[in-house]
Amino acid sequence: MPVCEICGKETRHAKIVFIEGSKLTVCERCAGHGNVISDYGRERKVYVKRPRYRKEEKTFDVVADYDKIVRREREKRKWKQEELAKKVNEPASLIERIEAGKTIPSEKVARKLEKVLGVTLLEEVQNTVVEMPEEKTEAVTLGDIVKIRKRKS
Ligand SMILES: [Zn+2]
Repeated sequence: MPVCEICGKETRHAKIVFIEGSKLTVCERCAGHGNVISDYGRERKVYVKRPRYRKEEKTFDVVADYDKIVRREREKRKWKQEELAKKVNEPASLIERIEAGKTIPSEKVARKLEKVLGVTLLEEVQNTVVEMPEEKTEAVTLGDIVKIRKRKS
């Protein structure tokens, strides 16, 4: 059975109240001292809006003639597609599709090709400002809010 935090008596019908910013579990008689939030054991959840924040992201674009560059540099070195594939640790079929202009290499693959072939395949575009969705909320109990406030002070 919960114990009243004001008078110290055990109580069957405890209430959750806010008194001077603190959340207390009290008996029915002492509940008159504060604002009753809910019955004990039946706390409702409140939703707190998270602050909106911005995130800066660098984006890269693969140059338009990546297919020709890769083929040209590979042939210059007299490598087979399989040899280049091994050097970048990717399947030969991917190199084939890249050289045919059928597959745009991912940033990760492009970086490896740049290193092995000594070319530039990626162009930094600009800093994109991504606005995070505002409606992201997190359910917290009123008890959590009290804890957060206590930690801050
Ligand atoms: Zn009491």
